[in-house]
Amino acid sequence: MDLGAVPILDQHCHALLREGTVADAVAYARFFTESGDPAMHARHVPETVFYRWAIRELAASLACAPTTGAVLAARSGMSDEELARRLLGEANIAVLLVDHGYRTDETWPPAELAARVPCRVLPVLRLETLAQALIVRHETFDAMLDAYSASVETARADGFVALKSVIAYRTGLAAQPTSRVEAAAAFGPVKERARRDGRVRLAAKPLNDYLLLRALEIAERHATPVQIHTGFGDADLDLREANPLHLRPLLESGRYANVPFVLLHASYPYVRELGYLAAIYANVYADVGLAIPHLAAEIPTMLRQLLSLAPSTKVLYSSDASQIPELFWLAARWGRRGLGMVLDELIALGALDGGEALAVGRGVLGGNAAGIYGIPWP
Ligand SMILES: [Zn+2]
Repeated sequence: MDLGAVPILDQHCHALLREGTVADAVAYARFFTESGDPAMHARHVPETVFYRWAIRELAASLACAPTTGAVLAARSGMSDEELARRLLGEANIAVLLVDHGYRTDETWPPAELAARVPCRVLPVLRLETLAQALIVRHETFDAMLDAYSASVETARADGFVALKSVIAYRTGLAAQPTSRVEAAAAFGPVKERARRDGRVRLAAKPLNDYLLLRALEIAERHATPVQIHTGFGDADLDLREANPLHLRPLLESGRYANVPFVLLHASYPYVRELGYLAAIYANVYADVGLAIPHLAAEIPTMLRQLLSLAPSTKVLYSSDASQIPELFWLAARWGRRGLGMVLDELIALGALDGGEALAVGRGVLGGNAAGIYGIPWP
């Protein structure tokens, strides 16, 4: 099944670099890994299936030899904007939901990004980044909390389509109900560091937990979707704390039944756990970004596992791409291809007819997300 004509709503990604020039092969390899280790970039990343296949596919599209050098030469023959327009256009991506909280200083803000890509760009509000800025700005816990609550309260009105949390990276997904007193006590040392350094990385469990649950209370009233990082990521992450099963108490509490929870990155490697949660809780959705494109040839396996248990309306395409347009292009290409393969299998099995399979494909690539975020969709 060729899904090339089906437009994509990339429901979780990041912005493109302002200065997209790539110095050399090692700098390029950095974009194809979650590892921050220079030895990985220099020696091992080019040996991954992901990288090799990416270079081969990009070379075919750019009409050059399938080597990193040739691809770098071909891309340097175009302006950043030309390359972005070409690859995102070819990928038939209609909408990007962008978390600007990643490499904020090096990437385009929303309006500038929107002017440089052939897609509609809608922002997502990253909660920890918001809280960090407010901790720097405000002297007391109460003042910080008021400002935080007000920003979350008006997020939709301010144009954000969703909230996003990276609590998995900071203190883990097992957020505990925390009293205001405990949170205020944790604020002290964090504020002290912010005062000293002029910035702060929020990773104090009582404070992280309290602020996430506060945001969820507000999201519950507005039925605002919340994207949550789950599963793999960079070396900053304790993968054990990123298992989505840690969210069960929060889902079971019934306090956030109106919040669509979008669990990011296929929770990989906990993809079957994610499929289970999406099959049990009406408000849990399974995103596949980062797993697409990183899993490369195993993308169909991941999609097959999700679609084995989760209702097809719960599975949402994204790329988690950032910085360079190649990643958006590859993810779209491999996402459509993997999904097409799995749908063909289901047709061959007699599980779905052709019309049903196409409807599932359209839903996963955009329709399902459009419904959740309230975005007009063909
Ligand atoms: Zn992301």
